[in-house]
Amino acid sequence: MARKTIRAAVALAIGALAATGAAAQTVKITPLGSHDGEFCPLDRALIFEDPDGTRILYDAGRTVRGAEDPRLGKIDAVLLSHVHGDHLGDLHQPAANAGECAKPDFSVKATPNSNTVNIAAAKKATLIVGGEMPTFFQVKMKDAGGDPKQVRLLRFGAHTTVGKVGIVSVPAVHTNGLSPAFLSKEHGEALAANGLTAYVGPPGGYVLQFSNGLVAYLSGDTGITAEQDLVVRRYYKANLAVMNIGDVFTTGPKEAAHVINQLVKPKSVIPSHANEAATKDGKLLPKSKTAAFQKAVKAPVHVPLSGRTMEFDGSGKCVAGC
Ligand SMILES: [Zn+2]
Repeated sequence: MARKTIRAAVALAIGALAATGAAAQTVKITPLGSHDGEFCPLDRALIFEDPDGTRILYDAGRTVRGAEDPRLGKIDAVLLSHVHGDHLGDLHQPAANAGECAKPDFSVKATPNSNTVNIAAAKKATLIVGGEMPTFFQVKMKDAGGDPKQVRLLRFGAHTTVGKVGIVSVPAVHTNGLSPAFLSKEHGEALAANGLTAYVGPPGGYVLQFSNGLVAYLSGDTGITAEQDLVVRRYYKANLAVMNIGDVFTTGPKEAAHVINQLVKPKSVIPSHANEAATKDGKLLPKSKTAAFQKAVKAPVHVPLSGRTMEFDGSGKCVAGC
């Protein structure tokens, strides 16, 4: 009897320790924006680090300063939501803090290869894309010195893994025309002369399922869409959302707040794609779209200040750096 009681007590203690361990495990999210400590107009890039060490770069855009950017470190996978230049990376910043937050200097040309492909090739990372993009990116990857096998297809409804991170593609209601600048000279010039972009299938967003239980919805560029309720919340149960709020090209702050409050209902939110200088000296400007979004959203809104790492537990709560 006594031995059984001791055994039960030991089992309980081990269980409690394991539970504490899981709760203590956090996903680290680091924004790679154009200006240290600020949230600037073209900031999109985020690095997600799972407790198992897997590091995923989402939408490198223009603010990651090429593959040599020291903020990147090891990168296991690069996610691309769609091929517009501010996400794929037609240009990039020459140096940290170049230009002003309101008007960053993006004077380094990354076409025709793109910032995204240059980074994935140099880091030997898996490049995850949907739509009709894989064959296009296999050619690009080869041109950039990488292996076409690094490109992995992920279409809506499908699931893949990198390390212990589950990655799912979800719909985004947006466009996905490829600028002629990313094409070879003859084809690019012909399209440009006709004012056309190239077809590479639909754009998308992602859901990331981390090993500590965190489930992050990355909206990509999108308007309000029923899948934010039906798929992202009801099926995947996202508890953190990275949401576009910039208006004109995507939902604005009011519409984005509706998506968060009524459709996705996460425990916390990181705004993205604000297309404004939202902060000064790291403080949110009261008349900014980001401030309007924060005010309209019921859940905590954590402004992605470039270089500041935020840590989230498995329930979607920010536990450090916010
Ligand atoms: Zn776009």
